[in-house]
Order: sequence, then structure tokens, then C-alpha cells
Amino acid sequence: MVSDKIGKVCVIGSGYLGTQIGLLCAMHDYQVVMYDISQNALESSSKEMDNYLNEWLNKKELTRRRLSKTLGNVGFTKDLEDAVSGADIVIEAVVEVLDLKRDVFKRLDELCSPETVIATNSSSIRVSRIEDVCRSPERVINMHFYSYPWRSRVLELMKGTYTNDEVVSRAEAFSKSINVTPLLVKKESTGFIFNRVWRAVKKECLTVVDEGVASFEDVDRAWMSLYGVDVGPFGLMDRVGLDVVRDIENIYYSESGDPRDAPPRVLLDKIKRGELGVKTGKGFYHYPNPRYLDPGWLHPKDQV
Ligand code: NAD
Repeated sequence: MVSDKIGKVCVIGSGYLGTQIGLLCAMHDYQVVMYDISQNALESSSKEMDNYLNEWLNKKELTRRRLSKTLGNVGFTKDLEDAVSGADIVIEAVVEVLDLKRDVFKRLDELCSPETVIATNSSSIRVSRIEDVCRSPERVINMHFYSYPWRSRVLELMKGTYTNDEVVSRAEAFSKSINVTPLLVKKESTGFIFNRVWRAVKKECLTVVDEGVASFEDVDRAWMSLYGVDVGPFGLMDRVGLDVVRDIENIYYSESGDPRDAPPRVLLDKIKRGELGVKTGKGFYHYPNPRYLDPGWLHPKDQV
């Protein structure tokens, strides 16, 4: 039986997405424990949460009282047993590497009480590729958040082979309680709903550049102009992190074995140079002020 009430949330992996998930839960008054193997990652996570909250405070979207309350709801630890103790839901957000996630799930399954829901935030790994390391596979589920979940406001839920319907209902109710609409993936699908669509787009964009058909800037110009949005696929990949994009491509490649699914060269070259996107200050663009934000970049005068 999975417990109805969720009071304590544990997030495994306090990187980019883990921090955002933990913060959102804390803002909705859950007790949150952030766990990571890296002390640096925990410290950065704490600073990041502070930064987000202070930004909202400065924009008057949050009161000082709310800020303190939210920070008071979060703890940080390198002790896994402590982290999961009494947790009603554990959300795994470690790097996108199957074997690593399997190791983490094995430990979580051993340490968590049978009532705890164990969710993976993986962008591309179906929980059915992880569930066999668990003694209680009926409580595992894919719960896929998007960047800035307080703004993107949707997540995808997908069952594994044995996931209990009650676990899905718990996960749905939990999502709604943090103001995020759960979208149900009705059958197993690598990439869930939207990431399948987005993967096809980004892969084709990278291939267009790899083949020398166009510059990455012109691909983004086309996308931004035609869809009326303020960032294109290359700007978005920079935000996600080019190493994360590569890891996701590798998941598809490992499933199909088709060489056309291997990560495109242009991506690997960037990663080899340590250009991982926003987080390293350079990816396809330079940060913090990427050129696509410059007025006049989208439709340069000298091109008219
Ligand atoms: P990240 O590299 O920013 O963070 C990963 C964290 O995991 C790091 O802090 C690292 O120290 C930690 N870690 C590594 N091994 C660990 C272990 N054994 N136990 C605990 N922590 C460990 O990565 P991210 O971008 O936050 O992605 C995390 C997960 O979220 C991935 O599965 C990714 O596919 C998914 N995701 C990412 C995005 C995105 O936009 N970046 C969006 C949706 C989902």
C-alpha cells in the first residue's frame, strides 16, 4: 500500500533540474531534502535556490516571509539513508546515464520504506529499463519535469511494467499540489510525449549544421522568426546543457543501435572543448549575453 499523504519529498541529485524541483516543492510547503554525492553540488543548489527566491523577491512576486519559509523547508545532505528516511516521494534527478540510475534505484529500493513512491525525472530512460533492480517495482514511475517547472507547468507520468495505478494517482495528486499539470503517457514511449517531438527537431537541426547545410544561427533565425519565439533550438540546447543533450542521444542510440542515431559530430566537438552551454559560459552562443538576444540579430540590416 502506498501512503496517501505526501509530506516529505527527497530529491536525489541537486544539479540543474533537481534544484528546480526541490525549490518548487519547498514553495508548496513540502519538507524537502536534497541529496547529492557532491558537496559542491549541494552548495551550488542552495545558492541557486537563494538566487531564484531573491529574484522573485526583487520583482515583488514573493514576500520576505515566504522566502524564509521556503528556505526553511529545504535541507541538504550527503547522507542517503538520512535523506530518504520518512520520505513519501523520492524524485531521482542524477545525470542521464542508465547504469548510474540503476545503481541509484537499487540503493533507493533498499533504503526506502515500501510506501515510498520512487520516481525518475529522466528525460529519456523508461523506468522499465530500471525497475528490475527493485524488489518493489510497483512503486516506481517516470515523473518527467521540464526546466523551470513553475513556468512550464506540465510534467509527464509514465508507468513501468509493474507500476501500480495507485502510484499513478498519488503522483498525479502530488503534481497538481505543486501547481503542475500531469500529462499521462498511455503506453511506454522513450522520450514520453514532448521529448520525442523535440528530439526529432533538435537532431535534424544538428544534422543540418553537421552536413554544412546552414549555420546554427540561421537555423535559430528561421525557427524564431517563423514561430515568433525568443529562442531557437540551438539556444535551447545550450540551456539544457550540450552534455545532457549528448547523453539523451546516447539513450536513443543504445536502444536502436542505428549509427544514424549516434550523437552528431558538431555536438561532440563542442563537448570536447568543454563548451557545454549556459553552465560553462559558452556553447553554441556565449553567455550570459547570447547574441540572439541582441536587437537586430534576428533580421540583420546588412542582410536586407
Ligand atoms: P546535472 O548534471 O545538472 O545534475 C546532476 C546531479 O547529479 C549532479 O549534481 C551530480 O553531482 C549528481 N549525481 C551524480 N551521481 C549521483 C549519485 N550517484 N547520487 C546522487 N547524485 C548524483 O543534470 P540535470 O540537467 O539536472 O539532469 C538531471 C536529470 O534530469 C537527468 O536525468 C536529465 O535527463 C533530467 N532532466 C534534465 C532537464 C534539463 O533541462 N537539464 C530537463 C528535464 C529532465
